[in-house]
Amino acid sequence: MKAIVVGGGIGGLAAAVSLRRVGWEVVVHERAAAFGEIGAGVGVMPNALRALSWMGLEDEVRRLGTPRVSGGVRASDGRWLVHLPDVGQQKIIAMHRADLHGVLLRALPPEILFNDSEVTSVEELDADLVVAADGIGSRLRAELLPGAPGPVYAGATAWRGVAPGPYDLPITQTLGPGGEAGVLPLGDGRVCWYVARVAPAAADLDPVALFAGWHDPIPELVASTPDVIRHDIHHLPPLPTFVSGRVALLGDAAHAMVPYLGQGACMALEDAVTLAVVDGDLARYDALRRSRAQAVWRGSRIAGRLGIELTSPVALALRNFAFRALPPSVAVRGMTRFASWEVPTAGGR
Ligand SMILES: Cc1cc2nc3c(=O)[nH]c(=O)nc-3n(C[C@H](O)[C@H](O)[C@H](O)COP(=O)(O)OP(=O)(O)OC[C@H]3O[C@@H](n4cnc5c(N)ncnc54)[C@H](O)[C@@H]3O)c2cc1C
Repeated sequence: MKAIVVGGGIGGLAAAVSLRRVGWEVVVHERAAAFGEIGAGVGVMPNALRALSWMGLEDEVRRLGTPRVSGGVRASDGRWLVHLPDVGQQKIIAMHRADLHGVLLRALPPEILFNDSEVTSVEELDADLVVAADGIGSRLRAELLPGAPGPVYAGATAWRGVAPGPYDLPITQTLGPGGEAGVLPLGDGRVCWYVARVAPAAADLDPVALFAGWHDPIPELVASTPDVIRHDIHHLPPLPTFVSGRVALLGDAAHAMVPYLGQGACMALEDAVTLAVVDGDLARYDALRRSRAQAVWRGSRIAGRLGIELTSPVALALRNFAFRALPPSVAVRGMTRFASWEVPTAGGR
């Protein structure tokens, strides 16, 4: 059985690795001049680590990443809202996105990877299975589901980067009025960070000025990073299906979500393994993936409403009070509620 994967991001490469593990012949087409990944950090959540383990890549991910066990949620003045000195079993592996992409890339033989190879229509592809892993702006999705809504602006813009450090910090998310920040320390002293702000699309904003009053070391992380990437945050309203004929939509092409739970790339890894486990049964892929990914999509949306989108001082005070009142075990359950996913079994659900 032959599969063609369109898109060589984390989702497309993970699909190629997974399908090859169950015996499919696979090629990957990537429109960019080279296979690569920009961006800053990615937190490999326990659910994503299970997917990577199924692909045979857990050791390599653990070698290149750093397990983070302590952290929590802070207010913009630095007060802890939830402080988790040890989140126990629910370890997050902090990695640079390029390292995760590289682990997947090295697991594939170069002769199946075609760069500078843009796919313009499903019609041009001769395969038993086509994997549309062509990202949030998916051309294949627009062709196959012409009535489905496209990406919409989610009301906030984000900047990301890797500060050279060295720092020794816990993993944290900071919630402030109309903005949020995330800090994901790598094991070598560098720190991946993002800051996001409610704003009109393409607004002319300077993150150094916007986050200057936030707690240490956020202003310094932003100001000391040489290459800062900016993204206006878009998401994709839930689709009625993830499959059409012999095509499976995967990753952001199927369910691009706001980044406030840090699960977007993790969902693409889950999709990839599930697609291989169902071994061409796309109705089952749709049944297994659509409810799960759309639940995480909604959870991310709610995290945004209770986080970055809150601006009223009363609502902020209530939210912060509620966070501080939570017993740590309840807070851990809430923050990791999507991390308990297990690889589905062949034939079962
Ligand atoms: C600010 C921000 C922070 C984030 N933080 C996290 C995080 O901490 N953890 C997490 O899990 N997720 C995070 N995400 C989400 C994550 O980045 C995405 O969910 C993930 O990268 C999606 O991977 P993908 O392979 O589906 O799509 P993409 O990475 O977009 O890859 C699509 C690929 O397809 C190629 N392509 C497109 N069209 C064609 C075509 N017609 N022919 C051939 N090739 C084509 C593109 O060049 C690209 O390489 C974040 C996102 C944002 C915006």
